[in-house]
Amino acid sequence: MNKPAEIFVKKYQAPQLFWCRWLLPLFIALLLLSFSMSWLMQSQTGRLPSHGGLTRNAYAQPEPQQISSPGQSFSTYFPADRLSRCLNMELVIAIDVGHTPKASGVKSARGISEYQFNLRLAKRLLKRLHKQGFHQAFLLTANNPGMGLLERAFQAKRQHADLLLSIHHDSAQLQYFSQWQYRGRTLPYSDHFKGHSLFFSGKNAKAEQSLHFARLLGDELLSLELSPTLHHAEAIKGENRPLVDREKGIYQFDNLILLKNAEMPAVLLEAGVIVNREEEMKLNQPQYQYLLIAAVERALLRFAHVPCQ
Ligand SMILES: [Zn+2]
Repeated sequence: MNKPAEIFVKKYQAPQLFWCRWLLPLFIALLLLSFSMSWLMQSQTGRLPSHGGLTRNAYAQPEPQQISSPGQSFSTYFPADRLSRCLNMELVIAIDVGHTPKASGVKSARGISEYQFNLRLAKRLLKRLHKQGFHQAFLLTANNPGMGLLERAFQAKRQHADLLLSIHHDSAQLQYFSQWQYRGRTLPYSDHFKGHSLFFSGKNAKAEQSLHFARLLGDELLSLELSPTLHHAEAIKGENRPLVDREKGIYQFDNLILLKNAEMPAVLLEAGVIVNREEEMKLNQPQYQYLLIAAVERALLRFAHVPCQ
């Protein structure tokens, strides 16, 4: 290359070389960094869907804490390559929404009916189970929310349910209630008890399997650091339920109509105490609901486990 040609290269091609050697790789590196940052942030927030439901504007809620997403639970428990061999994803799960729109159960400390809590949690649970491959899961009362308890047991059988899970929210006996002012109304509340509880019926045709599923669920709730309430075992009128597993909060309640008459394993979950002012707030938080849902999902995965071929 002669001299004038060298000058030409330095003058006109040097900026292009600089761009190729430094700016372009720098630009790509920044792009990759921003992608990975946004992915990281998304995975840490657990990809929560919009709040929706009954309480978005009803309560001043504290900023939710960062918690582990149930999105992690499925792959943690069962890597994809084992799923088809080791799990019965055809399990038919009947999810019962406790109570009816008219006979709506207990009232929360802020005057919201238990039925609304039950319906919201049951719907979110169903959505999650469908997403995770339990396509046969269904809401027992989807077409008839006012369905009676015996009819529910019959309906679960008609739809070939392998397992029935009834969703409820809890209360306490009258002597534990006080009153407070909430938004200009005087409402009863009880802050004495908090936590979930599980019930099965010894008169259920599959009582042993019912207890087995209750233990799995109790175990998973504990593993997510949720604590049971033991107040249903107190020796007073309206309680006095035999506590089969104190650690997991599992009670035997033989004459619960739905559990007793269901012909498949059946368990009732009291997700939390909504007459407790603080716990009601927690139960309204999507992240807390997702912990409960994650526990159910994990318990179902263990229940659906079959010997690997
Ligand atoms: Zn109830």
